[in-house]
Amino acid sequence: MIVAPFTYNASASRVLFGPGRLAELGAELDRLAIRRAMLLSTPRQAVRAETVVRRLGDQAGGLYARATMHTPTDVTADALAQLKSAGCDGLVPLGGGSTIGLGKALALRTDLPQVAIPTTYAGSEMTPILGETEGGRKTTQRSPKVLPETVIYDVELTLSLPPGLSATSGLNAHAHAVEALYSRDANPIISVMAEEGIAALERSLLQIVRDPANRQARMDAQYGAWLCGACLGAVGMALHHKICHVLGGTFDLRHAETHTVMLPHVAAYNAEAAPDAMRRIERALGVERAAAGLFALNRSLGAPAALRDLGMPKPGIEQAVDLIMQAQFWNPRQVDRVALRAMLTRAWAGEPPKLG
Ligand code: NAD
Repeated sequence: MIVAPFTYNASASRVLFGPGRLAELGAELDRLAIRRAMLLSTPRQAVRAETVVRRLGDQAGGLYARATMHTPTDVTADALAQLKSAGCDGLVPLGGGSTIGLGKALALRTDLPQVAIPTTYAGSEMTPILGETEGGRKTTQRSPKVLPETVIYDVELTLSLPPGLSATSGLNAHAHAVEALYSRDANPIISVMAEEGIAALERSLLQIVRDPANRQARMDAQYGAWLCGACLGAVGMALHHKICHVLGGTFDLRHAETHTVMLPHVAAYNAEAAPDAMRRIERALGVERAAAGLFALNRSLGAPAALRDLGMPKPGIEQAVDLIMQAQFWNPRQVDRVALRAMLTRAWAGEPPKLG
């Protein structure tokens, strides 16, 4: 590879990685001078978060357990009211991207410090990006205020992530790395992280789906997810993230599953315009064609392949085409309405990507 001039933005967060590191949460709160932390979770992870609250004792000021996917602003307002009445001075989101998203939305409004404890592979904890939904429209902003001060990656917390969710969450992480490789501001540091992230997830996801209690595979996947999340945080994304953002916000489709379905199609569309990125993806996956390899991985993991199976109505294709074409975004290949409609139609029906 020939190195050309580039700009590299490093994330300013501190990472504790490894089994059992959750035990260091109290010390980490002290380090950040947080005296009364508010725990955040989804309803599904409330019991686990309550255990952490009990363990923290006086260091915890309560639990808000109604985090919701796509960060609706009414949920944030409700959590903010509880945060203020409890007099908390720090946030501990414990969960997947939905919970981390709520932590970010609260940090944006209060500037409180956060110790994020991710339990999926979505990677949001590594980015200064916040997506919020209001009135069925999802908008995204970047702010250093939302980046957690510390991230604790404890593999023990991921063992309960069901195999299906593990697969789609891991493929969601893949999407960050794939688009980072052909980003407008791609750089050699992030490209190394992206390739390593894709490879770590590729070697672990199949093992996890077969044996969800495999700690080594879980740790590899979490390491890969961290790297892929860092890619998302450091460089701009392209067509794939724009499509998923529109589909998720407009049709309330599940986030990770939407990424899973779309990624092979967008990789195929961009292949000719981004040959170096494709070579790296192929090397990381050990395949000859990146898009076909991504689709084959999706199939071998038993992940969803059709937007219609996620609940997207067929007339929604035209609506999505309109919204995506109206949006401002960069992509290595120019996006035209006819190609976009064809791609979404294939993805809606669950067909393999169209290889050039
Ligand atoms: P999620 O956080 O909604 O989690 C999915 C479900 O799995 C939830 O019910 C959750 O409670 C449960 N769960 C999570 N971890 C678990 C575990 N270890 N064991 C058992 N159950 C578990 O889903 P997600 O895909 O992680 O996050 C999606 C959200 O994150 C979306 O809103 C998306 O926009 C956002 N996101 C944001 C960024 C960013 O940089 N801003 C990046 C990626 C995702």
